[in-house]
This record gives sequence, C-alpha cells and structure tokens, in this order.
Amino acid sequence: MRTEADVIVIGAGPGGAAAARYLAAEGFDVIALEKTRFPREKVCGDGLTPRAVRELQLIGLETPREEGWIPNHGLRMVGGGHRLEFPWHDLDEFPRYGLSLPRAQFDHRLAEHARAAGADVREGWHVDAAIRDERQDGYAGGGRVVGVIARETDAKGRKVGEPTEFRAPLVIAADGVSARIALGLGIERKQNRPIGVAVRTYLTTPRHAEEWMEGHLEIWDGERGRSNLLPGYGWIFPLGDGTANVGLGTLSAKGTPPKLDHRAMMRDWLAHSAHDWEFGEIEGDIKGAAIPMAFNRQPHYVPGMMLVGDSGGMVNPFNGEGIAYAMQAARRATEAAVAWRSATGVRDQEAALASYARMMKDDLGGYYSLGRVFAALVEHPAVMKACTRYGLPSPLVMEFTSRLLADVYEPRGGTWADKLLSALTRVAPAA
Ligand SMILES: Cc1cc2nc3c(=O)[nH]c(=O)nc-3n(C[C@H](O)[C@H](O)[C@H](O)COP(=O)(O)OP(=O)(O)OC[C@H]3O[C@@H](n4cnc5c(N)ncnc54)[C@H](O)[C@@H]3O)c2cc1C
Repeated sequence: MRTEADVIVIGAGPGGAAAARYLAAEGFDVIALEKTRFPREKVCGDGLTPRAVRELQLIGLETPREEGWIPNHGLRMVGGGHRLEFPWHDLDEFPRYGLSLPRAQFDHRLAEHARAAGADVREGWHVDAAIRDERQDGYAGGGRVVGVIARETDAKGRKVGEPTEFRAPLVIAADGVSARIALGLGIERKQNRPIGVAVRTYLTTPRHAEEWMEGHLEIWDGERGRSNLLPGYGWIFPLGDGTANVGLGTLSAKGTPPKLDHRAMMRDWLAHSAHDWEFGEIEGDIKGAAIPMAFNRQPHYVPGMMLVGDSGGMVNPFNGEGIAYAMQAARRATEAAVAWRSATGVRDQEAALASYARMMKDDLGGYYSLGRVFAALVEHPAVMKACTRYGLPSPLVMEFTSRLLADVYEPRGGTWADKLLSALTRVAPAA
C-alpha cells in the first residue's frame, strides 16, 4: 500500500474533500484519510447560502435539482411579531440563490468529486497523531510535521488495524471541530472567541419543497411574550424529500459552550412555535455539536501542517455557516501549495506555505472581528429582542444587516450597504 504522497489530508468533510480535489487538480499526489465511510451522517443544518453555492461553482460540482439539491431564494426571518422575507441580493460576486442537501449526500458527492480529479480518498482510516521530525524546527519548540500515524477502522468505526505511517512534506488537518491532530501539537482553542452549540433533527412537513430558508430570531419556552425568551435562534431548512432540517443553536461570546439543555429547548420551542409547518412527531434523534467560530484555533499554519475548516475555527459567528469557509480555506491552502512547489530555497518555500494563514486572515479576519462584537451583543436575549423588534421592519437597517449576517455583499462597488460593509471589514483589525 502506498503511504507517501505530496500532501496528506486528514478528514474528508467539506474542507478536506475540497482540499483533496483542488490539490489533485493542480497535479499534487494527494492521500486523504477519512475515519468514517460514505455515505455517513453529519450533524448540520444542511443549508447553503449564495457564498457556499459560489464555492461549489468554483470547485465545479454540479447541483441539479433532480439529484436532490433544493434551491432557495432568500431568508424568511421570524421574530418580534414579524415574519418578513429577504430575497438574496442581486450581486456580481455571488449567485442569487442558496441550496440545501443533507450532509450524508453532500459530503459523499464532494469526496467523489475529489476522487474524480485523481485524489486518493481512503475511507475507514483514523488518524491518531502527526509525525514530527525533531531535526527540523516546528511549532512550539517541537519538530516539523512530516506525516501522520493512522489505523484502519471497521464498519462500526472501531480502530482495528496496525498503526501505519503516512508521510508527506505537507499535511492538511481538516478533521473538524474536535481538532485532535492540532491539539496533539499543542494548538489550543482561543477562549476569547465565540463558540456555538446547535442541535438538529429531520421532521416531516407538507411544506418540504418550499424554496426559502426560515430563521427564528426569538425562541420562547412557552407562549410568545408570556414565557421565557431563550438565548438562541432556530432554523427550518426544507429538503424537498418530505422533510425539513429543523434546528436550534446558541452562541457564547466567551468561548465556553453554554450549559443548556438544547434538546429540551428545541422540544419547548416546537411545542409552541412554527405550527404553520405542520411538523410530524420528532421520531429520530435530536443530535448536536459545538460550532467553532471566528478563527478560535490558531495558528492556521505550523511548519509542515495547515488547519482547514472547523479545525481552525473557521465558522461565521454571524450565522453559524461553516461549509463555505472550509471550502474557501481549501482553495487558499491550494494556492499556497502551488506557490510552495514553484519556490526555490527552503526559506521561500516555507514563506509560501505560511502565506496560507495570512490569506485567511486577509480574507476573513476583519469580518470575523465584527462577528465577535456581534456575538457579545446577541448572547443577551434582551438585545436580540430589541434588534428583532425594531430592526427587522426597517428596510434601511435590513438592507445592511441582511448582507452582514449572510456575508454576501459586493466587495467592490455595489450599493451604500455593500460599500459600508467592505469598509468596516477593512478597518476592523484581523486577529
Ligand atoms: C447543528 C449544526 C448545524 C450546522 N449547520 C450548518 C449549515 O446549515 N450550513 C453550514 O454551512 N454549516 C453548518 N454548520 C457548520 C458545519 O457543519 C461545519 O462548519 C462544516 O462541517 C466544517 O467542515 P470541515 O470539513 O471543516 O469539518 P467536518 O465537516 O467536521 O469534517 C471533518 C471530517 O474529518 C473526519 N475526521 C475527524 N477526525 C478524524 C481523524 N482523526 N482521522 C480521520 N478522519 C477524521 C470526520 O469524520 C469528518 O468527515 C453546522 C454545524 C452544526 C453542529
């Protein structure tokens, strides 16, 4: 079995599969090691904004409706006694639609797309740790990353094989929120960054083919206005297959997940709200996970290894979207790898690889700093309530806010709202 490559990718979720695809398309010899086997479930809202659709277009993945991709035209926001629809904006930089597709299918298709470009995606391989060469300088006084140790897993995910070394001059850790490989090198989570916790389930609904994403900005544990306002928000994303993905999340600005019973919150919310969806009973599990936001794990490059996607805390703190950013990071990682391949001399090669972390900060650092302020404000239900009540019905406020929340705006030119947002993200310090 071949165990050496130009690049080893850990994990084949959206970040890892996109990296494998982009790198293979550039002619790199890539092995991607994924501990599960496709198709497999992943806890997610299954929703894609125009930003994510643009990433799918850039990577060349077709999204025909006959194959289950359900388009949406915008976001319907419910809260403060309002129910308003905000269509996606007509912009040069982004398509004017979003999509949804269950992750069981989405991740499988992206992994196949990587294979089609020549990437060697191996399912059923669990990476235990990075291999470091102590003769070369690396992160925090340790050696450079030169590969990984992995073991094969059985159909139930149990590690059964012998530890096997896979070696490459570049490793990409795209192993998701647990970020075990980064942690193993001592790359800890930053406590001053927001973190979310969200749960979701699939519910039957006659409105499954509706082409709108719905967001609930207020969550009450009883009747609206006569019970407690909970510190969270909910979503309903129709999937066109008789069901919708229904979920609820909370946000903590301080980097420690709030100690709340999210499953109970979800049951309370659904018992008193969203009756117009005529949901069936909750039959399957309500599953949840943490959502790492605003670059909560850094550095994104240490000698020999890049962090891509959730492992680098790349989720948008305004809306909990992470797929688009994981794919964007994969694209940037590939640009850095291409520069590394054409560089001569150790110093220039290392500078080329390190440029990945700088590109990510240039792309998203300012916006994520704004998101940190947003998270600190909206973790207070009273602030959220006031914003919802007075902001939602104001066309002027929403012209700006809808762009801000979705991170979908014209980076150059556009309306006053596009220009204001680009200016703010430029002046906000990237950290
Ligand atoms: C409830 C919830 C709802 C969400 N809703 C949305 C949404 O609607 N839209 C959106 O854009 N984002 C959403 N997100 C965020 C989104 O799910 C993530 O940001 C996205 O999955 C990040 O992709 P990734 O490739 O970085 O990580 P992951 O998708 O987590 O992929 C990591 C992969 O690595 C594999 N892996 C892990 N450890 C190892 C190992 N040691 N060895 C080998 N393989 C390994 C895993 O099996 C997995 O396949 C949601 C998150 C949650 C929790």
